Amino acid sequence: RPTLAFEDVHFGYDKDRTILHGLTFEVPAGQHHALVGPSGAGKSTIGRLLFRFYDPQQGRILIDGQDIASVQQESLRAHIGIVPQDSVLFNDTIGYNIGYGREDANEEEIIRAARDAAIWPFIEKLPKGLETEVGERGLKLSGGEKQRVAIARTLLKNPPILLLDEATSALDTRTEQDILTTLHRVSEGRTTISIAHRLSTIADADLIHVIQDGRICEQGHHAELLRRD
Ligand code: ADP
Ligand code: ADP
Repeated sequence: RPTLAFEDVHFGYDKDRTILHGLTFEVPAGQHHALVGPSGAGKSTIGRLLFRFYDPQQGRILIDGQDIASVQQESLRAHIGIVPQDSVLFNDTIGYNIGYGREDANEEEIIRAARDAAIWPFIEKLPKGLETEVGERGLKLSGGEKQRVAIARTLLKNPPILLLDEATSALDTRTEQDILTTLHRVSEGRTTISIAHRLSTIADADLIHVIQDGRICEQGHHAELLRRD
């Protein structure tokens, strides 16, 4: 499992407006860190830099000590699994959506891989089987069901680094808790960053970084941050 580090990262989308003002933090191998802060604080920008949709103007992002600027984009993206807030599914079967990126695999192989990857709990909760068509002409999945498919798809690739960008924030509390409990169980030991705007969803994080105006203004465990609130 890799260690992920941001070292004095400065970034702005435009020259005249800096979004991240020297961001420094490290997620040790296998730990789960959370970034929390108000809307507009720069949290999603951090994810975009990690994927190299943009590069920092100053500072470095390191995976196991290697600057990601020197890593092939393809190899970088194979290392990082992202689950965004509103995952978009293909108008195809649930199995195709889960196995996307492994197009050679048939349903049986996807089921086996899902069991091996311990992601079956996500698939089990879906209303219909893997061969069910979803999307425009097929079955309409709820937000929670879509996220289960998206999480299963991401975890099936077994990424060493997992980035959850508000992955459950659009869901009702019960569905959210249900998914988070399962996620916690199956992503144990993966280097994970959760982006969140509520502390309640990141109670299990090893460390929480509070971001405000593109800076880390506070760090601590869930209970410590609650006490300081
Ligand atoms: P958060 O995820 O914490 O809500 P973001 O990282 O999405 O914050 O955004 C941080 C700031 O960057 C916001 O002020 C936002 O308006 C600005 N921003 C985000 N994306 C772009 C973009 N593509 N071009 C210019 N500004 C952007
Ligand atoms: P693969 O090719 O193995 O499916 P990708 O390189 O496409 O993996 O990356 C996973 C997916 O996540 C891509 O579709 C990418 O566009 C999407 N993605 C990456 N970063 C973000 C982000 N910050 N917000 C939303 N979607 C993202």
